[in-house]
Order: sequence, then structure tokens, then C-alpha cells
Amino acid sequence: MSSSPESFRLTLGLRLAAWYAALFTAGAVLLLAVTYALLTASLRQRDHDTISALLERYVSEYARGGLPRLNEAIEADRLAGRHGRMLVRVVGRRAEALFYTLPSDWSEFDLTDLDRVTAERAAAWSSIPSRRGPAALDVASVRLGDGTLFQVGRSTENRTELLIHFRAVSLFVVASIVLLGGAGATALTWRGLRPVRALAETVRRIVTTGDLSARVAHHQRGDALDDLGAQVNVMLDRIEALIAGMRGALDNVAHDLRTPMTRLRGIAETALSRPDDAAALRDALALCVDESDRVTGMLEALMDISEAETGTMALQREPVRVADLFQDTLELYLDVAEEKGIALAADPVAASLVVDADRSRLRQVLSNLVDNAIKYTAPGGRVTLSAVRAGAGVELTVRDNGVGIAPEDLPRIWDRLYRGDTSRHERGLGLGLSLVRAIARAHGGDARVESRPGEGAAFTVALP
Ligand code: ADP
Repeated sequence: MSSSPESFRLTLGLRLAAWYAALFTAGAVLLLAVTYALLTASLRQRDHDTISALLERYVSEYARGGLPRLNEAIEADRLAGRHGRMLVRVVGRRAEALFYTLPSDWSEFDLTDLDRVTAERAAAWSSIPSRRGPAALDVASVRLGDGTLFQVGRSTENRTELLIHFRAVSLFVVASIVLLGGAGATALTWRGLRPVRALAETVRRIVTTGDLSARVAHHQRGDALDDLGAQVNVMLDRIEALIAGMRGALDNVAHDLRTPMTRLRGIAETALSRPDDAAALRDALALCVDESDRVTGMLEALMDISEAETGTMALQREPVRVADLFQDTLELYLDVAEEKGIALAADPVAASLVVDADRSRLRQVLSNLVDNAIKYTAPGGRVTLSAVRAGAGVELTVRDNGVGIAPEDLPRIWDRLYRGDTSRHERGLGLGLSLVRAIARAHGGDARVESRPGEGAAFTVALP
């Protein structure tokens, strides 16, 4: 079937080869045809020049010494081996033949045609075809002032033979070109299509085995097909990373939800075992509501994190003024901070400080950081937001003077579901910082922390 990859490659290769060979052959044929035409014209011109020169010479000899002088000249030419095979005819005014010489084997030409020539002062050309072969007799005729007709002719047999030979050789050359061109074009196309075959082979392997680790072989030739292979490899890398990320996210979600779901089930089971205790049932239901809220929040955070980490989070980038961002965050948390007796403030930010980012995702980042800062700072403490320009980007910092983080915890606080020892009694899922870092990285930036136990912490988000 023509749609199978094998026959596709075969027909594509053959088609290309046929095209190359056809173009190659057409070029060669054209070249030979032009050469043939030029050769024919130039040989004909040479013959005509020879005949004209002789005609001129014999006319002048005749003018100088009449027929005897002409005879002498022709005899001299014949003896010298020059133009031996010529027709020379002189006809008088009253159509009487004055002179006539002709090679004996030229009976193939019908010479009665010679009388039909109507030549005047300038030489007229006529061509008498042979009765036996492709040659002809080229004749130049001129009539002198006294009415005498002079005719000199020569057979084209040499020229015709040369051209026949040329045609035979050309045929042989064209046949060789067709063969060589066909073979060469097939070999070249086969070689040229190698990267395409490698590409098809790789894709087929992935489709049939599902193994995404296959890659297109690289030849480092730097041509378009090589580039295509490299781009396909980059695409495969991305797909592989995405699938691995999604698989990981799915595993994490399944694993992370097991604990709260088990807890939920435990609460419900305990309540069911005491059906008559209305108060306990009410408490259990309230706990179930809390727990299911937690599960929902966790699911949302987990999905956000995996989206950000796998690069599938749709970011609505726009120019966002940092001052506005800080203002929004302060409005959201001022009451909470006040309630806990914490001074929440933002350093003055230049109005020109703008980042190209997703506004709501950045709000999420700052909310998580400020929420943590308030959570992990004792009453009477201080939480400050600040921003600086760093190179071509901007760095946002949330600083507190709270409990700080133990050095051994520092690298782990970014892990999903990791919660420090000091935070056990605080509400939280252990997902806030993972989300902060994932969102920062999805923007092309990163997040970092500086902290010492008892001295507070400074979380910085760098955005490009
Ligand atoms: P959560 O706050 O829900 O526990 P996070 O991912 O936001 O989870 O934070 C992970 C851990 O990092 C916290 O459990 C806490 O131990 C530590 N941490 C985060 N922010 C601060 C902070 N501002 N000061 C001290 N420790 C912090």
C-alpha cells in the first residue's frame, strides 16, 4: 500500500532520484543539441567560404586568360591535391556548355537542376539533394557581365558524415548520462534522505514501544535536516520531562492525600461508633468540614505546584507595579498582623519599579511569604516588604524578626509537605514555599532564603 512508511520512503526517494536524473539528462541533451546546431552552422559556413573563394579565383583566372587559363588553374589545384572533388561549370551566353568538370562518382546528383539557377552578379546558392544518401551538392553560381554563368559546387558528404558520427556519439553520451545520472541521483537521494529516515525511525520506535528516551542520531553537519533532528530531540526532551513531571505530580498527590483522607475517614468512623452522642456527631461533622477544606486547599496547591514545575502553568504576564503589589498584600494582611501585635509595613518603592509577571500569581507568592512571616514571628515583632532592582530584574524581599530557621532545615523548607519542627503547632500544609519557588521559577526567576535561628528570616524572590 502506498501509505505505508516503507513505500513512502521508497517512492519519495525514487521520485526525487527520477527528477534529478531527468533534469540532469535534459541539461545534457540541451547542451548537445546546441553544440550540434553550432557545429552544423559552422561546417556549412566553412564549406561555403571554400566554395566562394574558389569561385572567385576561377572567375578571375577566366577573366584574365579565358578557358585555357581556367583549365590550367583547375588542373594545378587537382595536381596539388587541393579541392580535387569539385564541380566547375561554365556556361556561355547562349546556354552552350563551355567548361564542365565533375568527379566521376557524382552520378547520385541530378545535375539538370543546375540549369534552373538564375544567378546574377552576386553568387546564388543552391543545394541539390543526393538520390542515394543524406548528402547534398552545395553550388554557388554567378553570372558574369558578358552573360557567362560560372558554377562551383562541392558535395556535403564529409560534413554529413561528421554530423552523423556526432549524432551517434551524442546518443551514446545521452544513454550513458541517463544511466550514470539515474544511478548517481539514486545514491545521492538515498544519502540525502538519511536524516529523514533516522527521524522517521526514531518516531516509529517511540510510537511502537512508548519509550520516550529514543533520540534522533546527530550528524553535526549543521544543515536544515540536522537542525530538524536537533529540534525534534529538544521537543522529545521537553515531552519526556513533562510526562515525568506529571507522573511525579500524580504520585505525590496520591501519596499526600492519603493522610488527610485517612484522618477524615477516622473521624467519620469514630463518630459512627457513637450514634447516640449528638454533640460528638456535630463535632465530628465540623471536623470533617475542616478536613475536607484542608484536602481541597492541598489539592489546589499541589496542582498549582506541579503545573508551575512542569511549565504548563498559564501565566498572564503583564507589567505589574511593585508598589501596587505591596499595597494589595498589606491590605490583605494588616488586620491579621495587627491582631497578633506585629508591625507589618512596606519600604517605599520607586514608582518606576515594574515587573513583567502574572499579577495574581505574584500576589499568591507575597501572600504565602507574608502569611509565613506573621505565623513564625512572635507578637511585638516586625514584618517588612522591600524591593530592589537587580541587574535587568527585580528582587522582592519579605523580612521578619521571628523564630528563624535552623541551618539543617534551610535546604528542606522548599520541599513539598516539609514542615519545620517549630511550626508543628501552627496551621499549614507545608506547601506554601514549594509553590513560591515553583511560581518564581515558572517566571524564569528563583526564590532563596537567609535566616538564623532566633534572628528571623528574609525570603527573596528574584524575577528577571
Ligand atoms: P507551612 O508554613 O505551611 O508549614 P511552608 O512551605 O510555607 O509550609 O514552609 C515550610 C517550613 O519553612 C515551615 O514549616 C517553617 O518551618 C519554615 N518557614 C517558612 N517561613 C518561615 C519564616 N518566615 N520563619 C521561620 N520559618 C519559616
